[in-house]
Amino acid sequence: MDNLIKSKTSNIPHSKEDIEYIVNSYTRGIISDKQMTRWLKAVCLNGMDSKETINYTDAIINSGERVKFKNIDGFIIDKHSTGGVGDKVSLILGPILAACGCYVPMIVGRTLAHTGGTLDKLESIPGYDGLLKINNFKKIVEKVGISIIGQTDEICPADKKIYNLRDETDTIDSFPLICGSIIGKKIAEGIQGLVLDIKTGNGAFMKLEKDAFFLGNLLKKIGEEYSIRVEFSITDMNQPLGDYSGLLCEVIESMETLKGNGPEDLLEVVYHLGSISLKMAGLDNPKARIDEVINNGSGYEIFCKMIHAHGGVLKEIKLNPQEIQYIESEEEGYISYIDTEKLGFAVNALSIKKKNKKIISDRDAGFQMFKKKGAYIKKGESIARIFSSDTGKLKIAEEIFKKSISVTNKKVVQDKLIIR
Ligand code: URA
Repeated sequence: MDNLIKSKTSNIPHSKEDIEYIVNSYTRGIISDKQMTRWLKAVCLNGMDSKETINYTDAIINSGERVKFKNIDGFIIDKHSTGGVGDKVSLILGPILAACGCYVPMIVGRTLAHTGGTLDKLESIPGYDGLLKINNFKKIVEKVGISIIGQTDEICPADKKIYNLRDETDTIDSFPLICGSIIGKKIAEGIQGLVLDIKTGNGAFMKLEKDAFFLGNLLKKIGEEYSIRVEFSITDMNQPLGDYSGLLCEVIESMETLKGNGPEDLLEVVYHLGSISLKMAGLDNPKARIDEVINNGSGYEIFCKMIHAHGGVLKEIKLNPQEIQYIESEEEGYISYIDTEKLGFAVNALSIKKKNKKIISDRDAGFQMFKKKGAYIKKGESIARIFSSDTGKLKIAEEIFKKSISVTNKKVVQDKLIIR
């Protein structure tokens, strides 16, 4: 392994066999976390060319099984985001697509750096099993129309282990590593079409729009190598999406959105990505179809059926934080800047703790924004409230929150939410 680390450090491309060796040996425990971290750091520094990126993606897929659906009478599609704060679109759009007649086998990740993880959010529902066996996953997709799981020992085990290590070692920010991780999961789940939401802004991995475009094009190119259809969108992440960020609070906001009570910005992204998805599935009038499944409750019904099929109990869900802290503005004026990455780190510190590779979560932790960018705020008025079951942590989050929001006396031009 030392020779391979040296090659990557010297910017010499790896062969297909080298990459297979690295991915498989790490997954089986032959390569240590320390060695793998050195290799990941070298990749973050020097990158991989497109041949290496395809070989890396192949190795991730081949580390486990690849799902094949037979006898399905609808388009098999998924939507994936590169990660943001308050980004709960998958929980809403997945059931909407299923209600419109598509099939959605969705493999998602956990909380990564400052971004929220769909699996952690779902696991905040009592009883929800997000690590099902492949057969069960397939059965739920065929019966309900959607199932959401994480990487398991059967499906993308290499991504499961490498994703965790990247989170612990700050080796996330790399085009080929993100590409292998996302496309690996998406090809393994057996889809025909993929719609990607590339987040850009201060709360995204891609801080610059040009990097978001580069990543979108790379993901599309690599995805199409596997003969699936891929479209990508670019959306703003200079502030949290929707009103809530956290675990259970995001599930509840998603359910409310499926019932027709969603906040405007969240709905805008849901409709935008939903329209691209339904068009790809060959369904006309996408906006009318999304309206219909929200208004007639069938999207919400599918969400509930999926949770039930995974063992989740929705009757018991209620946000019940022991401590709530309101964040009051120290100035009067317009909100001009929100450091979304800092807010993401603050909410993850409140809600997720890793101990001996085990996740301990405070499902009631999170925050609710009352005011977003451009809003006028009076001195002493509440910008947000944060909640947790740990008073000490709440104090730290409050300090971070206060430092993350800037106010100016000039009117603020709103960022475009949908960039592409
Ligand atoms: N989402 C993923 O699934 N993987 C990454 O590496 C980044 C975002």
